[in-house]
Amino acid sequence: MNRIDLHLHTTHSDGSFTTSEVMAFAKEAGVTALAITDHDIVDGIPEAMAAGALLNIEVIPGVEISSRYGESELHILGYFLDWTDATLNQRMMTLRDSRHTRNPQIVGKLNELGIDLTYEEVRSLAGTESVGRPHIARVLMNKGVVISAKEAFDRYLADGRPAYVPRELPKPEEAVAWIRAAGGVPVLAHPTWVKQSREGLDRLVEQLKAFGLGGIEVHYSTHSPRQTEDYLSLAKRLDLLVTGGSDFHGVTKPDIAVGRGRGDLKVPERLLDPLRKAASAG
Ligand code: AMP
Ligand code: ZN
Ligand code: FE
Ligand code: FE
Repeated sequence: MNRIDLHLHTTHSDGSFTTSEVMAFAKEAGVTALAITDHDIVDGIPEAMAAGALLNIEVIPGVEISSRYGESELHILGYFLDWTDATLNQRMMTLRDSRHTRNPQIVGKLNELGIDLTYEEVRSLAGTESVGRPHIARVLMNKGVVISAKEAFDRYLADGRPAYVPRELPKPEEAVAWIRAAGGVPVLAHPTWVKQSREGLDRLVEQLKAFGLGGIEVHYSTHSPRQTEDYLSLAKRLDLLVTGGSDFHGVTKPDIAVGRGRGDLKVPERLLDPLRKAASAG
């Protein structure tokens, strides 16, 4: 049985490896199809498709959009979307701009805590318009302030930590609608991050389905076998598609590998055709 990986980040957002490097890792891991799902940007897709044609890996156009739902950030993945869609690109530009509003405020808080860094340093390391907290974490690592991204988030950057600044985010139903409007299938990413009771998650997913949610990311690097089973039964019960991916980021999540997650991830290839069909039907 072949494996796929429908959740990958590159240097076009907060991943630390280029699109071509990620494609090479995928080949090495035996991945036959993948989606590049950078945050708020689709610039990696043409390069991935070119590399995929050479490596014989199918590249599905993808994106990941953050949204806010009460206390939680819900990430909505989009698959098989028209990544050239003008309205979608306009919306993503607004989201990237909100990053440039928020990040200097994070840097300001870090400065107040006595840490010497500038937003220019962060932008220069990032080298993309989709700048995220993992880039700030990497600058802190390079300066020796922390030894890992985990330490940077735990000490400074995570929600509730002293340098946290919230970002202006759409509602989940907006992110879902934006992906649908571009012909894509919206999927709830890593449900384990949702800060809700189990019943709360059920209700939320049911509500989002009414707005057009098409699937749930059941297979994920940090899901336990029990969580995977649980999300699988939720997807079945609500007649939602099942997807999966590693959420590879490179150096900020050093324990996660393309196609293999923490070693035990295997997203089956047979999940792809139902997703493809849902996109063409939508
Ligand atoms: P941002 O998009 O700027 O809000 O940053 C959020 C991103 O940071 C998420 O998509 C994760 O990839 C990453 N992230 C969140 N928590 C951690 C952590 N503890 N260690 C490494 N990366 C993290
Ligand atoms: Zn990320
Ligand atoms: Fe995410
Ligand atoms: Fe992600």
